[in-house]
Amino acid sequence: MEDLIKRTAKAISGAKKVVALTGAGISVESGIPPFRGKGGLWEKIDPMEYAHIDAFMKDPKKVWDVLIRETNEFIEKAAPNDAHLGLARLEKMGMLKTIITQNIDGLHQAAGNLDVIEFHGNFAWHYCLDCGEKITAKEIDLSELPPRCHCGGILRPDCVFFGEMILPDHLSRSRHLAETCDLMLVVGTSAIVHPAATMPLIARENNAMVVEINMEATPLTGVVSDFIITGKAGDIFNRIMDELENGV
Ligand code: NAD
Ligand code: ZN
Repeated sequence: MEDLIKRTAKAISGAKKVVALTGAGISVESGIPPFRGKGGLWEKIDPMEYAHIDAFMKDPKKVWDVLIRETNEFIEKAAPNDAHLGLARLEKMGMLKTIITQNIDGLHQAAGNLDVIEFHGNFAWHYCLDCGEKITAKEIDLSELPPRCHCGGILRPDCVFFGEMILPDHLSRSRHLAETCDLMLVVGTSAIVHPAATMPLIARENNAMVVEINMEATPLTGVVSDFIITGKAGDIFNRIMDELENGV
């Protein structure tokens, strides 16, 4: 493990362009449950069923009740953890170009990262299905579900549900970053949801080094990534940052 931490720190300081791809696992230590993995929502519900646009359109009350309301509550209470803060420090030190995140929790920006692609949108903002007006999560009246806009239209989060398109700008910029980076850090993602999970493949095809940080192996492990550092993202980032900043 120590050897892998050292190798990662060395790779970060030696690389010309580092890109991070993050997933729900990086926010677990901030108290937001992931979809898959231990303690994930998957154990209670099938996210593919609830987080699909067809499910939302068919029964918005149910999706608000089971998924959106609770997620907003978790996000409201959450603060960036050591992994978010480590990535923010890397950006400040000029050692990280961009974060491509699948998360909708806004914690990378809260940690101080300026260049973040929110691949799946965010839950900070919601909009009306009828008139398109935007409203922040905090302003929503949840006394009746689904919550409604003043025009009577149903509100939905400004996210990308399963079955919806990634914003073309986000997709093309992410692809370009994956093609041109020489190191991709893949943190806390099960690497199952595409096209986000394609980014490490593109990086690899273009000869970038790919390092995973995760509690468990993923479909990338041993195939696409050079190696995986197994453990909690916060602990691992503390050790990488220690190595980079103090050489200890
Ligand atoms: P996922 O839920 O499919 O997988 C989570 C991954 O994180 C697993 O591989 C797990 O082993 C790993 N993990 C768990 N705890 C960890 C820790 N402390 N440190 C490091 N790794 C840890 O997540 P995904 O790949 O991002 O895909 C799920 C989709 O769900 C995404 O598209 C995302 O938009 C959405 N989602 C987002 C949030 C959030 O914004 N925080 C939360 C749940 C789901
Ligand atoms: Zn409206």
